[in-house]
Order: sequence, then C-alpha cells, then structure tokens
Amino acid sequence: MRKKIVAGNWKMNKTPKEAAEFCKLMKEKVVSDAVEVVFCVPFVDLYPVLEELKGTGIGVGAENMHFAESGAYTGEVSVQMLKEMGVGYVILGHSERRQYFGETDEMVNQKVKKALETGIVPILCCGETLEQREAGITIEWVRIQIKCALAGVSAEDAKKVVVAYEPIWAIGTGKTATSAQAQEVCHAIRTVLAELYGRETAEEIRIQYGGSVNSKNAAELFAMEDIDGGLVGGASLKEEFVSIVHY
Ligand code: PGA
Repeated sequence: MRKKIVAGNWKMNKTPKEAAEFCKLMKEKVVSDAVEVVFCVPFVDLYPVLEELKGTGIGVGAENMHFAESGAYTGEVSVQMLKEMGVGYVILGHSERRQYFGETDEMVNQKVKKALETGIVPILCCGETLEQREAGITIEWVRIQIKCALAGVSAEDAKKVVVAYEPIWAIGTGKTATSAQAQEVCHAIRTVLAELYGRETAEEIRIQYGGSVNSKNAAELFAMEDIDGGLVGGASLKEEFVSIVHY
C-alpha cells in the first residue's frame, strides 16, 4: 500500500518570521499517522521551519536546487547545502520554474539524479498547458516529461521519487481538474512508469495531483486509484491546509 503524501508548496510566500509563526500554529494540527506531510518552503525559510518542526515528523522540502555540487553559480543552492541542513524533499521541474526560469527536461533530469544520489526525495512535477489539453496531446506530453526526467534513474531509485501531476491550467486558477481527468493522467503516468521499471516498481511510486487543491475537493481527488495525495499551493499557506491533510 502506498502511503499518501500531502505537500504544501509555499512558492515565494512568507518571510522567515512569518514562516516560523505559521509552523508554530500548524504543527500539532497537521501531524498525521496516515499521511506523510511535507512543507516545501523558500530557501530562506528552511532554517526557521526546520527548527520549528523538529521532532514532529513533518517533512521539510525546498522548492528548487541546482544540479552542480558547488562552484561559480551565483545565486544558486546545491543539494549538499540542503542535505546538511536536514532538508528531506525538493520540488523539481515545477511548471513555474520551467515557464519563467527556462528549466528544461534535461536540467530537471540532472536535478532528479543529483537529489537521489544525495538522499533527498525529489517531488518531480509534470503537466500540460491548456493548449496541449485542447489539442488532445496531454498524455503524450506527460509521458515524454516523465521519460526525460527519469532517464538514467534505476528502478531502486525511482521508487523514492514522488511524481506530481499538475495541469498548468489548474495551478492558482481555482480551476481544478475533475477527479476523472486527474485520475486519467495519473494512471497514464503509472503506465509509463511500469513500461520503464516494471509493474511492481510502478505500483510503489507515489503520484500526487496538484492544481487548486482545497479542503472541498481533496477527498474526492485523493480517493482516486492512482492519486496518492496532493501538491498544494495557495491552500497550504492557510489554516485550510489542516483539513486537506485530514481529508
Ligand atoms: P495551487 O498551486 O494549489 O495554488 O493551484 C499548486 C502548485 O503549483 O503546486
């Protein structure tokens, strides 16, 4: 049985002080035995959030990282830096990174490999634009994203990856994919994972849905066969996150 994983993606929100205050308020309320809970936060919030969540079992993640170990990459953060701090997860290939910061499938692949090598769980994002959905190429597109991102990743390592299916048209728009639409693509992702690694491995990999998840739609989405939780943006910044975790 796959354990559900619900991760908040704060994006560029909350100062370090606000982050600490929010975690203090939330930590007891979001602790769960049934669900793995993760807060993915801006780099500068990692330290206060790690401090505040120590001993709670709530995971802490970054929202990005560089694939190089160190060097002349002004403004970047390496996986070793994250690892040493005690960060357990990292969101990779989020559509906002791809769209506004030019991240390619190849870069995402390098980051995924680096995270796995270092022992940090990649939350690997994929998803189609509205134009791609309307053109009927959603599944084909997502299959390519997954294959590129996981090129050279062994089956053993692939089991540690969390895939997040996030249709771009549903992110921050209040327009959630229906549970049937989300299930269809998450199932297609599991199929491509099975082609790459075999059915047994594919059955172990967690696939989240993301895109306007809220306290009202979480239960229906997370009940779908191939949806193992959610990557939550806007609603993770609020008390509402509690009812998503305990959907
Ligand atoms: P949203 O964002 O929940 O605000 O739509 C999800 C995401 O981008 O991870």
